[in-house]
Amino acid sequence: MTTLADYPKIAAGKVRDLYAVGDDHLLLVTSDRISAYDFILDTPIPDKGRVLTAMSVFWFEQLSDLIPNHLVAYDDPRIPAEVRGRALLVRRLDMLPVEAVARGYLTGSGYSDYQRTGAVCGVELPEGLVEASKLPSPIFTPATKAAFGEHDENVSFDAVVATIGAKRAEELREATLAVYRRGAEVAAKRGILLADTKFEFGVDETGALVLADEVLTPDSSRYWPAEGYEPGRVQPSFDKQYVRNWLTGPESGWDRASNVQPPPLPEEVVEATRGRYVEAYERMTGLSLEEWL
Ligand code: ATP
Ligand code: MG
Repeated sequence: MTTLADYPKIAAGKVRDLYAVGDDHLLLVTSDRISAYDFILDTPIPDKGRVLTAMSVFWFEQLSDLIPNHLVAYDDPRIPAEVRGRALLVRRLDMLPVEAVARGYLTGSGYSDYQRTGAVCGVELPEGLVEASKLPSPIFTPATKAAFGEHDENVSFDAVVATIGAKRAEELREATLAVYRRGAEVAAKRGILLADTKFEFGVDETGALVLADEVLTPDSSRYWPAEGYEPGRVQPSFDKQYVRNWLTGPESGWDRASNVQPPPLPEEVVEATRGRYVEAYERMTGLSLEEWL
């Protein structure tokens, strides 16, 4: 029987731990850690790792006719029992140093950039757009991968060309927008708006562009309930709203501007948040989490 201790740990991200499985594969283990306001909170959300893993698998399968992906197996003797259900065996790729972001709606850093410059990542937008406006068509708004604890920084398409070359950059933009469109279409059928999302792509040994990391999860995407959508105000987020509300509310005693680690979450916030993650999975996929591994 394999255990995690059999594999060398090669990296720990904010949410995922990576282990080498031979030279060509990785074990991508998703924890229950949750981040909010750029902090990793001290309190884990039970089942979150399983939800993100199951959801990525759902999407890899939905998207497989559109783009190759890194998934090799999610139920396999090489996956240790202790992480079964929240670990993927994947092909080890050369990751592109670009956060491939697509936006169909204007919010977050996209909206801030627009307010300042009328454009996002050099893409000019019409005048008069407001918080959460639907864009005339989805746009590619790449960002550089920030160092730990820092914000990703939006960059122009030309900056991506300078980093990975014109041909690869164009391929990346087309793939990002195609996957976004498919994701938004599937979500719409479930009464969910895919406001924006971030992909990570790598390149395999044949030079092919491959979709990697997590895909179209609540952590990498902004999902809004279509019901109640109203441009001009910040939309409630599907998953982290309880956490954000509690942290910035009076009960937590936490000051967002203070730069100190937020306090542990109370039991009811943990439970409600867990419920939202499970609901996001079940609503999007039409599957039950209980049936997942
Ligand atoms: P965040 O996703 O919050 O921006 P992060 O990407 O640093 O942060 P994690 O998602 O926890 O943190 O870590 C996953 C890491 O694994 C990332 O560095 C990602 O680029 C890398 N990765 C994902 N898939 C592959 C793959 N197939 N081959 C090589 N590296 C991969
Ligand atoms: Mg990541």
